[in-house]
Amino acid sequence: MLPSIIAIDGPAASGKSTIGALLAEKLGYVYFDTGVMYRVVTCVALQRDISIADERAVTQLAEQTKIDFLPPAINDGRQFTILADGRDITWDIRSRAVDGNVSPVSAYAGVRRAMSAQQRRIGLQGRVVMVGRDIGTVVLPEADLKIYLDATEHERAQRRFLERVARGEQVEFDAVLRDIKRRDEIDSSRSVAPLKQADDAIYLDSTGVDISHVLERVMDIIEERASRPFHNLQSEIINLK
Ligand code: C5P
Repeated sequence: MLPSIIAIDGPAASGKSTIGALLAEKLGYVYFDTGVMYRVVTCVALQRDISIADERAVTQLAEQTKIDFLPPAINDGRQFTILADGRDITWDIRSRAVDGNVSPVSAYAGVRRAMSAQQRRIGLQGRVVMVGRDIGTVVLPEADLKIYLDATEHERAQRRFLERVARGEQVEFDAVLRDIKRRDEIDSSRSVAPLKQADDAIYLDSTGVDISHVLERVMDIIEERASRPFHNLQSEIINLK
């Protein structure tokens, strides 16, 4: 039997969204990128001039904002169309301002409570690939397959830098690298649901490895697991090179 709930966690720009979306497409599963939800709350707070330091106001916003994921109506490279209270903010959530403020927002316990409850409800419906930081550890600890996807800071910054350049943004590599380091530091050290590998997750390092090769490896793992359903899940490190 194929794993029905697949959790992919890892640091910023480790390739989770690309792999998650391709994997979901291959399996005919729902793809759910949980980072989007934290980005939406951050983006709306910034647009409404709500101070990011104001935990109560930001939490209230997280509880009240209606977030919708729709199929991509416009062909501009988006994975979904993201609506916040009916307004399209698909690209606004990818701005540097959001990158710079999303980690403090996602560290608030009340924000996490509001977001993870919705994520868990969607995940438990099954046939889902859910991507984030705490999916295998907190949101869906019962996931059938957990992958922790990693790559060096330098490589992850390079990927994010090239994405931004392709979108026509003026950016400096060093600034992107700094932002990624800062975000990882906050995400890994927060007290609620920090970024960390689940004990039973498979660790994949995608540094210097082509996306298609990572996907192939994940598909191999899935097929292998499907043929060994009673295999005792333990943490494994898989060398992709
Ligand atoms: O994955 P992405 O980079 O879009 O996530 C943006 C931010 O949202 C992360 O840096 C992290 O602070 C937060 N996040 C989280 N838990 C998740 C997914 C994302 O805290 N499950």
